[in-house]
Amino acid sequence: MENRYFSRLGEPSCWSCGFHYGIKYDIKKPSSASWDKILNGWDRIPLQRCHIVPRSLGGADEPSNLFLMCRECHDLQPNTALPDIFFKWVRAQTWGRRESSKIEEALRSFDVRPEQHEELTQLVESPDFKTWLDGKLGLHRPQSNYASVSCRLTPATMIGLAVHYLKSKRGYQNCVETREK
Ligand SMILES: [Zn+2]
Repeated sequence: MENRYFSRLGEPSCWSCGFHYGIKYDIKKPSSASWDKILNGWDRIPLQRCHIVPRSLGGADEPSNLFLMCRECHDLQPNTALPDIFFKWVRAQTWGRRESSKIEEALRSFDVRPEQHEELTQLVESPDFKTWLDGKLGLHRPQSNYASVSCRLTPATMIGLAVHYLKSKRGYQNCVETREK
């Protein structure tokens, strides 16, 4: 059975969704590294020490009640006095699936139909589109929540720009307008 409670020591990541902060944070040769080196490595990444049972509900501020998670998981976790609920939720978290749902939501926001997904995917990889993007996109600096890293390109940015670009091209405008009627 997969043990979702512990990540690989050499690859610091969220204990809940598994979000990995990139190979620059990886610890080289963890099997032969000293504990000091491993702990220093885990200390460097912005994982948060989250309470399994919240302090407001009597949870202890001790290692047995602490769980290392990314900021987003910390914001989304269930806050109850029952650890079983916390662990049931933790086992179900997957960073990749959460990202997919954000992309789906951005596609829905810009009225992209499922049959247009493939065209959009190809478009964002095309050199023409990449040239057109120049000066039009920015990285989002997160406020208090919903981002695990310091700056990121939101799905709504890329998909919004791709749809805008497509609308200026052949036939796409007609597709969207037909749907809205
Ligand atoms: Zn997480």
